[in-house]
Amino acid sequence: MIITDTHTHLYSEAFDEDREIIINRAIEKGVSRFFIPAIDSTYTESMLQLENDYPENMFLMMGLHPTHVKDNYMDELNHVENMLTKHKFYAIGEIGIDLYWDRSTLEIQKKAFKTQIQLAKKYKLPIAIHCREAFDEIFEVLETEKSDNLFGIFHCFTGTLEQAHKAISYNMKLGIGGVATFKNGKIDKFLNHIDLKHIVLETDSPYLSPVPYRGKRNESSYIINVLEKLASIYNMSVVDIASITTNNSKDVFNV
Ligand SMILES: [Zn+2]
Repeated sequence: MIITDTHTHLYSEAFDEDREIIINRAIEKGVSRFFIPAIDSTYTESMLQLENDYPENMFLMMGLHPTHVKDNYMDELNHVENMLTKHKFYAIGEIGIDLYWDRSTLEIQKKAFKTQIQLAKKYKLPIAIHCREAFDEIFEVLETEKSDNLFGIFHCFTGTLEQAHKAISYNMKLGIGGVATFKNGKIDKFLNHIDLKHIVLETDSPYLSPVPYRGKRNESSYIINVLEKLASIYNMSVVDIASITTNNSKDVFNV
């Protein structure tokens, strides 16, 4: 069984004490493909180190996270493109709009999102979208940028069935993680109306631990709990869900 964690921040300081243990624990459980979203330039070096340490397992993304879009965002976007010219990345991410933490940066968040979508098209890469309290704003940008060569993942999807269909209409797969296991997470109520071909798995570790670890530090091996939840939602075996979602991740990332 090959399980793919399409969104995990393994370079995070949260794993500085036991990163190797965490990664090996995941690999032992069958989680052998890790897609690593970027935050900003301060993490680039530790991401490259991670890839260097586990070249078979780590697939890096490059991008500027919406909560890190500040006054210096043009410099950060230059860093993103500069890295794209000299290193292989598998997606532009995570990018998008976050109005939970800061509404005052909406205009520059939109600009950074748009610019990075254009980079994804230019470098023929998928995007990994971060959306928090910003579905309308994200869809507005996707509507202006939509095209056959724009595709990717709506990471940590937490919307409604209608928003799920809309995301899919822009060639996005839905990244499903710990929220699917939450009592009040809501998406578990309608996911069975979404064809599994649109679903990929993720942890977003160290954040958003699935039940029964909710509130604790998340790690990639806990993706098993998400997998089991999906197996019950779709009434399928864990092995089949792992294989379908891993194939979906191969379609998106082309690896
Ligand atoms: Zn993330």
